[in-house]
Amino acid sequence: MKSLLTFPKGGVHPPEKKDQTASLPIERMPVPDELEIILGQHIGAPCTVTVNKRDEVTEGAQIGEVKRGLGVPLHAPAAGKIKAIGTSAHPMRVSAPSVTIAVDHEAAAVEPHKQDWTSMSGKDLLTKVHEAGIIGIGGAGFPTHVKLNPPADNKIDLLLLNGAECEPYITADHRQMLEHAESVVEGAAIIMRILGVKQCRIGIEQNKPDAIAAMDKVASSFSSAECDIAVQPLEVKYPQGSEKQLIQAISGRKVPAMALPSAVGVVVQNVSTASAIFDAVVYEKPLYEKVVTISGGGINKPANLLVKVGTRVEDIVEYLGGVKPGLKKIIMGGPMMGFAISDLSVPVTKTTSSVLFLTEDEIDSTPHSQCIRCGWCLDACPMGLEPKEIGIYVEANRAEDTEPFGVFECFECGSCAYICPAKRPLVQFVRLAKMKAKRQ
Ligand code: SF4
Ligand code: SF4
Repeated sequence: MKSLLTFPKGGVHPPEKKDQTASLPIERMPVPDELEIILGQHIGAPCTVTVNKRDEVTEGAQIGEVKRGLGVPLHAPAAGKIKAIGTSAHPMRVSAPSVTIAVDHEAAAVEPHKQDWTSMSGKDLLTKVHEAGIIGIGGAGFPTHVKLNPPADNKIDLLLLNGAECEPYITADHRQMLEHAESVVEGAAIIMRILGVKQCRIGIEQNKPDAIAAMDKVASSFSSAECDIAVQPLEVKYPQGSEKQLIQAISGRKVPAMALPSAVGVVVQNVSTASAIFDAVVYEKPLYEKVVTISGGGINKPANLLVKVGTRVEDIVEYLGGVKPGLKKIIMGGPMMGFAISDLSVPVTKTTSSVLFLTEDEIDSTPHSQCIRCGWCLDACPMGLEPKEIGIYVEANRAEDTEPFGVFECFECGSCAYICPAKRPLVQFVRLAKMKAKRQ
């Protein structure tokens, strides 16, 4: 067994709570009667619609595009008729522009055609990644083709695949690595061709020994001198899966403040994004479905579901037999970085990794109090920031003065808020400070 690595500063150990779904195989959910596809699923400009109301679309047909600026096209997750071009509920905003498809359950299934990519150039592969609408599906939704085309003066020599999955409850990447290790590893090889790098390390936390074994076996058989792919086991520590922490843990390189990983010669991709790249290149399949962990004490039947993008949470709840009486809070994403939702018509997007149905004993509803200056949040912050000062300044109506405490370096991991004995909403303070400081 290789020695376990981790990042040197800060971090916390929230209860893992992955046992409800870690051993459940990925299950394909039947396509609901309607899909609600939000037009702005990636960082950058939202798509403009390329179809009209009442148009018939086939599975995988393009329904949206970004003509100018950062963005990727959007595809129909299933065949059907465009029922509406309007707005839908959104996990973070009240509503967002969307396209509604009335699904045609009688349409013929799309037959995948296998392509040989080994003779394709990196440039052609990059075009395929863009055309398939691939974005970072384990994170904020940054367009992948842009990340795989770093500035020319950033010489990339290392690809890191992120299989840490350090957020409690979530097991979607775990199951992806266990059940589709070949797709993930071959996806890594495609990315290496695009970047022109020879080395890839796949970081997986040691609480997923079966995934480490499965990935290690495939990586060893795939690896060569020109394509060196290996698994690197990691200590279990949150937020191990954040880019800067993963890079420092595995390569020892420290990404400077406000810089991108490419500044230290590294590109990071999530394991499920690598699998989506494999599907896009080998089967010409756009990104329009994904694995989502449904867990928590408030859902009748926890699951790792393969769902179409645009599937509403209410349809997932119905498929899984409804919610339990003790349900108190629904979170889209993990408990550390996710967002509470109250409207079950919110649809799954390309970046949805989980929907959690939490009961009273799974949430902490203690009201927050004054900062007692214990300093625990400073010790927990993996970026070495000063969350307590940010909170104190925000409460004193001086949010604009928080930049010296590192507010713009904060990636909202929630470690500080998790550890705070006064239960202070430090991430909310940071978000408010960022908003006000930017305005200033
Ligand atoms: S949320 Fe921000 S301030 Fe708090 S621990 Fe994470 S990076 Fe540090
Ligand atoms: S952990 Fe909470 S109480 Fe302690 S210094 Fe930080 S904000 Fe204040």
